[in-house]
Amino acid sequence: MSIVDLTSMGKSQTELRKEINGQLSKLQDEISDYCFQCAKCTAGCEAHKLLELEPHKMVALLKRGLIDEMVNSDIIWTCMSCFKCRERCPQRVAPVEILFALKNMAVVSGKQIPGKYTAMLQSILSIGLIQDVQEVTTRDNKTMKRDELGLPSLSKPCDPAKFQVGLTKIAVEKV
Ligand code: SF4
Ligand code: SF4
Repeated sequence: MSIVDLTSMGKSQTELRKEINGQLSKLQDEISDYCFQCAKCTAGCEAHKLLELEPHKMVALLKRGLIDEMVNSDIIWTCMSCFKCRERCPQRVAPVEILFALKNMAVVSGKQIPGKYTAMLQSILSIGLIQDVQEVTTRDNKTMKRDELGLPSLSKPCDPAKFQVGLTKIAVEKV
């Protein structure tokens, strides 16, 4: 069922809306109530063609308290976290932070998350990076490693087990 169908039947969840706005206000002034629907966030969104709902419309849904509908929708996983919506908003409302809050809610409530996120998470937990260092192909079709391009090597945790425990503790405290 599409999110448009889901929201047409939805009921406002005022308490959840307050909770998310409370989390956002700790970051900056990022409270969805300040949004005046100018759509500057959507105009700069790198993923808006892929999103079932555009960023300014997500803020509108949050203002209406339709939280579950978004948490249960794939749209929260399509955002590529480029933070452009945060930079462009004249009202200091950040759709990206709203999406982070919704993703956290989805994880906490045991919803299935896309496999690529799980792979990224496992990589962060083991080496501190979303993916291991890759080789790149140059314009003249040569494959080169990072050091061959004169780039410094990236540091990785010397004690992966200790790193994993510390990182998990921080993540749990944040949620
Ligand atoms: S740019 Fe800011 S104020 Fe404008 S629609 Fe997006 S969130 Fe709302
Ligand atoms: S962070 Fe997500 S919602 Fe915001 S502009 Fe980038 S892709 Fe779009």
